[in-house]
Order: sequence, then structure tokens, then C-alpha cells
Amino acid sequence: MRILVIEDERKVANFIKHGLEEERYIVDTAYDGQTGFEIAMNNHFDAILLDVMLPGKDGFSILKDLREAGVAVPVLMLTARSTTDDRVVGLDLGADDYLPKPFSFEELAARLRSILRRSSPEKSTKLKCGDLLLDTVSHLAFRAGKEIELTTKEYALLEYLMRNKNRILSRSTITQHVWKHNFDPESNIIDVYVKRLRSKIDKDESMQLIQSIRGVGYRMRETGES
Ligand code: CA
Repeated sequence: MRILVIEDERKVANFIKHGLEEERYIVDTAYDGQTGFEIAMNNHFDAILLDVMLPGKDGFSILKDLREAGVAVPVLMLTARSTTDDRVVGLDLGADDYLPKPFSFEELAARLRSILRRSSPEKSTKLKCGDLLLDTVSHLAFRAGKEIELTTKEYALLEYLMRNKNRILSRSTITQHVWKHNFDPESNIIDVYVKRLRSKIDKDESMQLIQSIRGVGYRMRETGES
């Protein structure tokens, strides 16, 4: 899952980024409002963590402009201010949740999982496809009960495929969700990673869960039938 953090206090932004990367998210950061807004407008994210007090463009106007532009990405507002008024303004502008500073990383991570679940077709924290199980809280993957070691990138790719089980996903859609911006769309890196992932989850298995769709991309599916 790909997350954008818009936060001008670099210490806080980097603390969140490192924590989220440990939780296996793909994280982009912006340290001022205008840059954050532009990155949010020009890329696809699964969620945005948005500070309120920002130089350039404040969090409320970023949120307002994103929503007016039809960008429906889940937004978790972060702020030092914790008055009811601010919470109400944020929620009325279309924020999905609100977290007053200071907060613990554990709470941030739990709220993020919660808004991601709400926007996902798959509501469970445990994703299943055939005998493959992915626990999105512990970040562990199992095939037929046997744990599979995954890198952060492989995990992000697998989670995205499993959340969109049975859907055909183009390479560019996968790229938007699993890679940071500044990524070269012409590269074949998706194919490289899918191949690595397959060698871990589908190797020696009679049921191949990741299917190639010629000329389009990939699909994760439960049965061997077409
Ligand atoms: Ca700030």
C-alpha cells in the first residue's frame, strides 16, 4: 500500500516514514503544502497522512482542493490542535479520520489500517487466496500453513494483488499502488518482482495463484479455472 505523508516537521515526517516502512508500506513524503498537494494530485496513493499547519498551503485547503478535484483517497489528518472545531472542519471537508499530536506510532498505524480497510473491497485484516494467507497486521504470509519470507517490496505487491483478488490489474495500475513516484513507467520492474514473488509463493504448488494476462498485467485468483 502506498502512502503519502505531508508534514513540515521533518523529524515527525521521518519518524512516520520509517515506522511505516517497517510496517511494509511504500512511503512518499512532502515537507510543504504546495508540493504535497501537487504530488497528491499527480499520483495514486492508498492513503494520505496530512498535517494541518503547513507552509505554502495548509492541510485544510489541500483536503478541500483534493476533494473538489474528485480525489477520493482516504485522508488521516494530523494536528497539534485538538479542539472540536478543527476536528469538525476536517471531517466536514472530507477527512476520513483525525489524530491529534502527540500520538503514538501504534495508534497512527492502527488508524491508518482502519481507514485503508474502509476503502478496500476486502475488509478483513487477514487476506486469503486459496491456501495463501496474508496477515496485514503482523505482515506475515503463509502458503499451506508454511511461512513465506518476503521483502518489503514483495509484501507490498502481494498485498495489493490479494486485496484485488480476481481482478485483472494492469502493470501501470500495479505500479501506481506499489512504487514511489519518480518511477520509470517503461521499466519492466513489475515483471521482475512478480517473477520473484511467484518463485516464493507458487513454486512447487499445483495451484498457481498469480496469473499472467497477456498484454495487460496480472491477476491473483483462487481457482485454476479460467
Ligand atoms: Ca506542521
